[in-house]
Amino acid sequence: MKKADLFATTLNHLSGFRLNNYELHDYKDYMKVPLDYNRMEENTLDTMWDTIAKNKSPLKKYFERKAQLLGVDQLGWLDVHASVDVGDYKNKKYTYDEAAEFIIDNFKSFSPKMAEMSRRAFEEQWIEAEDRPGKRPGGYCSNLPESKQSRIFMTFAGSTGNVSTLAHELGHAFHSYVMRDLPLLNQRYAMNVAETASTFAELVVSNATIENATSDAEKINLIDEKISRSVAFMMNIHARYIFERNLYDERQKGTLDSNRLKELMKDAQEEAYEDALKSYHPMFWATKLHFHITGVPFYNFPYTFGYFFSLGIYNRFLEDKNVSEDDYIALLRDTASMTTEDLAEKHLNVDLRKPDFWQEALDSVYKDIEEFLELTESYV
Ligand SMILES: [Zn+2]
Repeated sequence: MKKADLFATTLNHLSGFRLNNYELHDYKDYMKVPLDYNRMEENTLDTMWDTIAKNKSPLKKYFERKAQLLGVDQLGWLDVHASVDVGDYKNKKYTYDEAAEFIIDNFKSFSPKMAEMSRRAFEEQWIEAEDRPGKRPGGYCSNLPESKQSRIFMTFAGSTGNVSTLAHELGHAFHSYVMRDLPLLNQRYAMNVAETASTFAELVVSNATIENATSDAEKINLIDEKISRSVAFMMNIHARYIFERNLYDERQKGTLDSNRLKELMKDAQEEAYEDALKSYHPMFWATKLHFHITGVPFYNFPYTFGYFFSLGIYNRFLEDKNVSEDDYIALLRDTASMTTEDLAEKHLNVDLRKPDFWQEALDSVYKDIEEFLELTESYV
């Protein structure tokens, strides 16, 4: 709180600089740069958010049930991502070798090539996963175009979340791997599709951990984790997007002090969470790194896009037996040389400017919520 004014100054400078820069380039709309950067149309972005906004009521039912399970009358900001531990639930632990085996096995049923590359990554030690004191949390994958390999950094402590993160980073490695023979410039994909392969790989593995759950309590814990991830993309990131738009709208007229930024943030969160929470985080604009990244404006909607785009592809795989790993690889190979709309049209035969694709992906979030409500009934 003491530093609120400093963070407010930073944000004002950053947005003010960008707006001046856009004006000098005669850009009419501040969304032009972030949209161009992601090679997508405004229409697509608006349709995605509109469809999400229309699909939030099941999330509220999920919040109510989660509040009951956590023993609070209404969820607060911090409760949304709290772990749900019912009955005698104990966190399942994986050794690193078990995780490797589990990931490779589950990748196999979707893409033998992805499984094969992952086996190589484990055997040739592309992954720095040691859990040691002082090591940074989180995961990261870096591509080495000369050797056509990748390197992964993460801390593996044995949780199911760690197994999903490992799969996620291997997904990134696979994305680079299938593009390894393309000209270097055609390997540089934008942020919104950068998470396609990683989210896909993560979905394969996190869904497998749910299927392999040995008790209802474990299943509940894992499904909750999955739903809360959807909540992050549908609500938390939505709030960031609404906030940033309002910030740029007001910044065109002058600077905003820290109190105004707090108001804008709280309003954005109330709108995005549809007033379903008991408490919000008005200082979020100061604590979240993404608002202060200088290189890329609107470092938010590409996450939501990437997640639901990937969920759509994953569902396609499950439903259509004619879809093969080569179709998936062909899509990945085009991610750095096509617009997002063309990519979806060519490989998925869908129009991202229309709600259908997004609705289908959102329907699978409904399914998770239904299962969660059913399983938890006896615990309330
Ligand atoms: Zn990622």
